[in-house]
Amino acid sequence: MYFLNDIERKTLLGRILPSARKVGVSEELRGWNWSDSPLKPLYPDERIPNFLVGSQYCPTARDVFVSKVRGVRGEENNHVRTGSLLHKAVQNVVLSYVDEVGEQSFEAWWEKEGSRTFRSSNNGQEAQANQGWVKSFVETIWSQTSSECKGALMARRSSQPYASEHDVHASALPFLVEHKVDGRLLGLSGLLSVDCYDYLHGIIFDLKYLRPRSTAEPWRRLYCAGYAIALESVYEIPMDLGCVVYISQINGQPTVSRDLFFIGDDLRGWWLEERDKKLEIVAQKKDPGIPNRCYDTCLYTKYCLGEQK
Ligand code: SF4
Repeated sequence: MYFLNDIERKTLLGRILPSARKVGVSEELRGWNWSDSPLKPLYPDERIPNFLVGSQYCPTARDVFVSKVRGVRGEENNHVRTGSLLHKAVQNVVLSYVDEVGEQSFEAWWEKEGSRTFRSSNNGQEAQANQGWVKSFVETIWSQTSSECKGALMARRSSQPYASEHDVHASALPFLVEHKVDGRLLGLSGLLSVDCYDYLHGIIFDLKYLRPRSTAEPWRRLYCAGYAIALESVYEIPMDLGCVVYISQINGQPTVSRDLFFIGDDLRGWWLEERDKKLEIVAQKKDPGIPNRCYDTCLYTKYCLGEQK
């Protein structure tokens, strides 16, 4: 998931990095300038998670009002369940290699994580009907991730035969997985979790599960932008590259594609607009209203559309 293919590597080296070096990032949009405008949050006592800043599912951002002001918990659906299991599976496999534990049994993991998720679902029949398909989908991604990690370790060992095991693992798999970072300097949650940060190549990865026929829209880059600015505010080093990893399916078969990009001024500016707008909703308890058309698998459908009746 977090390894670039040949084309992506060429695109990174031949186009994205040279252009990023030429254009650069404005100093005031670097996270370490969190105490000055425009990064300084207008409402310093409010906090929102980065996923709500980036999310564009609700056209009026009422999801922010409903979850943060009214305190409503969304209703889980099959899409969210599948996405969450994919995240956990990839995290589990990559960490088992990073931590030098080695190959794990998918069946044992599924029994612990997958079956439990479905058992605890409050949408029993719908969840059970999907369980078999979700299991086989997640298993394919699990195997693919495991093969990639094994391949990277073998390639590193054979090219550097005198490297220690620690060096082999740290350089073949240079990943901080589910890296926890404090985003409070920017008005974000103190418990942000970055899907993966590749510390040798400086890439922030965000994993997304897309429904069939969904497209990789540009706003999905906002999540990486938020994490980049938050990481800069804490570590004070530049974070210039983002990559959204899309897991989807064609005819039931998993597909993986990556959107690799420079986290430049435009994206940072867009993220700031979203952060300010959404912090204002929370601080002023401002209901932005129900849009003409709601996102069809929105977690808050029952709550919002129930109110309309
Ligand atoms: S149900 Fe509609 S208004 Fe409510 S959060 Fe979802 S998309 Fe927004």
